[in-house]
Amino acid sequence: MCGIVGIVDAGGAAIQLYYALYALQHRGQESAGISTFDGLNLQKFKGQGLVADVFSTTVLADLKGSAGIGHVRYPTTGANLPENIQPLNFQFKDHFISIAHNGNLVNTAELRAEFEQSGQLFITTTDTEIIAKILINEISNTGWVEDAVHFCMRKLRGSYSIVVMIDGIIYAFRDPLGIKPFCIGKTENGYMVASESVAVDALSAKFIRDVKPGELVRIDGDGVKCTQIAVAGKRAHCIFEYVYFARADSIIDGVLVYTVRRKIGQNLFEEDPVKADSVCSVPDSGTAYAIGYAEASKIPFVESLMKNRYMGRTFIMPSQKEREKAVRIKLNPIPAHLMDKSIVLVDDSIVRGTTSKRIIEMMRDAGAREIHMRIGSPAIKAPCYLGVDMPTREELIASNRIEEEVRHSITATSLHHVSLDALVEAIGIGQGDLCTGCLTGCYPVQIDGEHAKARQIDFVDETYQSKLGTFEVGI
Ligand code: AMP
Repeated sequence: MCGIVGIVDAGGAAIQLYYALYALQHRGQESAGISTFDGLNLQKFKGQGLVADVFSTTVLADLKGSAGIGHVRYPTTGANLPENIQPLNFQFKDHFISIAHNGNLVNTAELRAEFEQSGQLFITTTDTEIIAKILINEISNTGWVEDAVHFCMRKLRGSYSIVVMIDGIIYAFRDPLGIKPFCIGKTENGYMVASESVAVDALSAKFIRDVKPGELVRIDGDGVKCTQIAVAGKRAHCIFEYVYFARADSIIDGVLVYTVRRKIGQNLFEEDPVKADSVCSVPDSGTAYAIGYAEASKIPFVESLMKNRYMGRTFIMPSQKEREKAVRIKLNPIPAHLMDKSIVLVDDSIVRGTTSKRIIEMMRDAGAREIHMRIGSPAIKAPCYLGVDMPTREELIASNRIEEEVRHSITATSLHHVSLDALVEAIGIGQGDLCTGCLTGCYPVQIDGEHAKARQIDFVDETYQSKLGTFEVGI
């Protein structure tokens, strides 16, 4: 998890980065940061908290320059420490480098050990610093960013969408399996890359296309150049982006997330129809699914849980007790809509089971007679190592329970998770091109102690010097 953005725009980078990060806030609420290049130096500001809390107009006015990158963080590797806030900034010889990363490496420990053996020091506990070190070392060896990115793609195992700014030029690349989303947009006076298309929309920019898996995109004042570094036989787009993580109005790898969720809702009804008085969603994550269910079933969609819009995601509360209390502050049941009614309650996923259990309890207290829970993802059976913050197997309610046991535990009248086939059908990308690790326990990259179907990756060329800038972006 995390959101990244990079921009080169003659009109100035900082304000646009700020709005783009605002649009990506759902990808990380723990910290935010922006670096810009003013032609001579790197300007930077970062802090803990939401985008709106970290940046003020004065701060943004000081972030001068037409090029810059930004990051919102939700930690997967690396603790919640001030030094881990991104972008990470480096000075190498007389070059200024700033880097931001969305994703998670699975070979962090071995890569870090290699560097430490040769006496190199680290100032953060993130995998991003390792990527920066590999890149800088290789640029120093070969003098070419393309070669350095090629080398990186050979070394790194895991998910990475990366934006790096070197002396005001933006380089963006995406892992060969395309695990995390990444796209390119045309701004008024330049170009941008961002984790999701909603950031492009926020700047009234024009969505161009996704960054291809294994591709390197270079943006400077003259425009965009793209170079394909590596190609995988099969991709592994994160299935959970479609289920929960991405904003519903984003288009990821050619697919509008809202359409996927609505279709899943329809599939949920086809798979397990039930008679009820109304369909209700757990707002906002379950809404598109509930609308799809209501359309297919012809049961009216009635909002019976009101969300307090000024509260963050309850999942990020550190303790179980706090999370349970927070659900009540975040969601308030409407007794007039629930009294003596049979309700289909739709949500995107059950992870620990805390939220669903608490919501069902509250709805029953408010008078609901039956609560038929319908879930837009199959049961989550295994942890994620590739960038979604998922608990361990012990904490996942469905990792060692069958559906009936989960139903009993959350006290629903009935429970149905959408099947993997129906989910894949709704996304419209073949299962072989999706990462389903959290649902199947089979991962697209080798992970110690886990079952994997690692994808074959081919490298397009060994040296890029002659090709630099040959590939134009397809506008
Ligand atoms: P729970 O079953 O209590 O763990 O909460 C599940 C709810 O948390 C889901 O309905 C989602 O809306 C949300 N959720 C799912 N996965 C995540 C995640 N990785 N981080 C934050 N929230 C999540």
